[in-house]
Amino acid sequence: MKKTIQLLIVLTLTVGGLQAQTLFKNVNIFDGTTNGLIEGKDVLVVDNLINQIEPNIKSKKGWTVVDGQGMTLMPGLIDSHTHLNMYKMSSLHALEGTTWEEIGARAAAFAQEMLAMGFTTIRDMGGAHVGLKNVIDEGLLPGPRIYTAGGLIGQTSGHGDFGMLTQRKGESNMERLEMTRIVDGRKEVLQAVRRNYALGSHYTKVMVSGGVTSLKDPIYASQFSDDELSAAVETAEDWGSYVAVHVFQNPDLKRSLELGVKVIDHGLNISEENMQLLVEKGAYFSPNLTALAPEALLHPAHQDPNFPSTKKFLTLRNESTNLTNYVKKYKPTMVFNSDYVLLTGIPYRQSMDFTKFHVAREFGNFWALQTMTVNGGILAKLTGPENPYQEGDLGVIKEGAYADILIVDGNPLEDITAIGASEKWFDAAPRGQDVAPIKLIMKDGKVYKNTLDK
Ligand SMILES: [Zn+2]
Repeated sequence: MKKTIQLLIVLTLTVGGLQAQTLFKNVNIFDGTTNGLIEGKDVLVVDNLINQIEPNIKSKKGWTVVDGQGMTLMPGLIDSHTHLNMYKMSSLHALEGTTWEEIGARAAAFAQEMLAMGFTTIRDMGGAHVGLKNVIDEGLLPGPRIYTAGGLIGQTSGHGDFGMLTQRKGESNMERLEMTRIVDGRKEVLQAVRRNYALGSHYTKVMVSGGVTSLKDPIYASQFSDDELSAAVETAEDWGSYVAVHVFQNPDLKRSLELGVKVIDHGLNISEENMQLLVEKGAYFSPNLTALAPEALLHPAHQDPNFPSTKKFLTLRNESTNLTNYVKKYKPTMVFNSDYVLLTGIPYRQSMDFTKFHVAREFGNFWALQTMTVNGGILAKLTGPENPYQEGDLGVIKEGAYADILIVDGNPLEDITAIGASEKWFDAAPRGQDVAPIKLIMKDGKVYKNTLDK
């Protein structure tokens, strides 16, 4: 009996009776790569891929037709630096007193919120493994596509060592849950990175200099020897993947690029020489730009000047005055990096809306939109053979690409508020997850929101 049912399912699929077609008409297209809207073309989605972009595609029986009402059809957004498992925690150290269950539930809430805000792909920069991704991909929970680094790789007393002072190596909650891997020496780095890949990680995240939110390391500290960092790069390459680093200090930035690191995350105080090197090496740049926005000084966490993280934050800002100029001069492939982990009491969306606004304010709307679309899609491909989403490109509207699509009210190339950007941050009125100008959200060919008729 069971066999007969299976056979029937196979037959139906073969005959093609289960294909789903969605035809978008009356839209102007922002394709992710062109600084202008493409007019007069319809977009046909078959199952989970964009099948055809042509003028006047004729609808057939059984197709779903969506009238875009002259609005902009564009790629779903990509955030290339998030931390699913650190969602709305008061501090990273608070994770020591949080159960796996609460951490997981917070991550699920985060994923739903990101999709509701138009992010159809995110890159988790440490802490999450593929568990939540699997649940979302199975269709049990709405959320974006997820690329994960697995447990972040940090040294004893470095950025990543968020355990309490009384805890020795291996004793912290984050280590037991495999969110961080505190390792020292080539052998331990090899073991840790290999363990991540066994659990399904898509790439490797290594902390190579001090951080703002960690309390055991000064911001200027160099972390991991060349030998240790090379062990991570070699292992990542063995899996056909890559290493991204958390880095601020220029000597660490330089040696990272020279040792084969492919993505510089943070790097706000990057020197001109290192920006040139990054572009020469074809590496990617993922700066958490809002840390440098004047408005960041109003962050509730930074109101106590004696708080260690605030001191580090202010030091870093003072060192990071040329970033915008170097980006404009050398034009690195830059991706969108939100990196919000300390937002208790501040609705997440306020921060995301402000980040969109700030990137556009610094670099113009087209540049900002590219960081959130095509560039994030190109970076996703660096994952190599273990890339979980290989059927099509991400972050672009073109034939054969994944059907991750937004329809927004307005032209975001002229008005960035069309994707929900807002110049207000902490002073913004609280609002829900629903970004009103985003009228339609499709991911993998499935519609998660459609308010076009409202
Ligand atoms: Zn981060």
